[in-house]
Amino acid sequence: MMSRGTSANHGRDRVPNEAFAEALFALSEAEPPGDRRLALLRAGYAAFDTAGGARRAALEDAPAWLRPLIEQLAACHGEDALAAAVARLAAGRPHPSRAARAGYLSRAAVADALRRGPAELHPRRLRGACHWHTHDSDGKAALAAMARACAAKGHAWSLVSDHSRGLEVASGLDREGLRLQRARIARWNREHGDDHRVFQGLEVEVLADGTLDVPHGERLEVSCVLAAVHSHFHPDRDQTDRLLRAVATPGVHVLAHPRGRHFHHRQGLRARWEKVFAACADHGVAVEINGFPRRQDLDAELARVAVSAGCELMLGSDAHAVPHLEFDAYAAAIAMAAEVPRERVLNVKHAEEFEAWLNER
Ligand SMILES: [Zn+2]
Ligand SMILES: [Zn+2]
Repeated sequence: MMSRGTSANHGRDRVPNEAFAEALFALSEAEPPGDRRLALLRAGYAAFDTAGGARRAALEDAPAWLRPLIEQLAACHGEDALAAAVARLAAGRPHPSRAARAGYLSRAAVADALRRGPAELHPRRLRGACHWHTHDSDGKAALAAMARACAAKGHAWSLVSDHSRGLEVASGLDREGLRLQRARIARWNREHGDDHRVFQGLEVEVLADGTLDVPHGERLEVSCVLAAVHSHFHPDRDQTDRLLRAVATPGVHVLAHPRGRHFHHRQGLRARWEKVFAACADHGVAVEINGFPRRQDLDAELARVAVSAGCELMLGSDAHAVPHLEFDAYAAAIAMAAEVPRERVLNVKHAEEFEAWLNER
């Protein structure tokens, strides 16, 4: 993994941004709920999400009482010293969410990976911008605005993937909504398709028993079906069978954010991943590396397992607003860390090749 030597941490003994952020998260969890806990949490996120120096980012909005503490952490030489400082300051109080923060790349680590990794997987080299939302479901922008932004980033095609109506947390698309969106996509492609072609995807819900919330006939009307788990995580229960049933369902193209993990909140599904990915490879279902910073799902370790199983991978930003389209950088950094071969990545295909791939399924 690429936890060391981020751009902001050239010096000897300097700690990577994710370790600095984790120290602040750990201290926040040692506090009772209240303003102090929130300020520490905010400083932790600032350090995690900056491409520059963690200390400076953490200090930026820190209240006066927190600043000396940040300086104290920043003065630690090396991760061991930092851990010792946290143990002293937290006075043995537990930080229960630690496991749900492990294995995520900070923004600085992503920037570092893109600098060092193979240029062929750099976001600039990806022809397709996959998995983004519009205000047809829970996105913040119109389809044309998102498509324009994808084109401006240099992508030749993109895959809109709004939620189906079955998702409780988002106002999803029903059949009529999908039809109206399809008309908007057709208009876009008539006017701009030579420069940037949009494909219609749909992020459908994998229910607790592994069936999907959208019936087969309706699924056939969209070009690309992404199956995803958003509920019933049951961390104590093995969910292999649920996922096997979902990926074996005819017309599914992609298993999106397979674990459903969420930074700081949950570690996601438990499953025998070799078996799940082998089934994906058998059924020609691609596996997503979701680059949304709080998801990063798959991580590099599981992406390697998917590659070994013979899977193809889709790099997705899961953008819910125009600036989020940059999150494909996180997915690319994970793919680089996992040494995903370029030819296994759907995003490098030309639009016609991607269309042919969709139609094979
Ligand atoms: Zn999702
Ligand atoms: Zn999504």
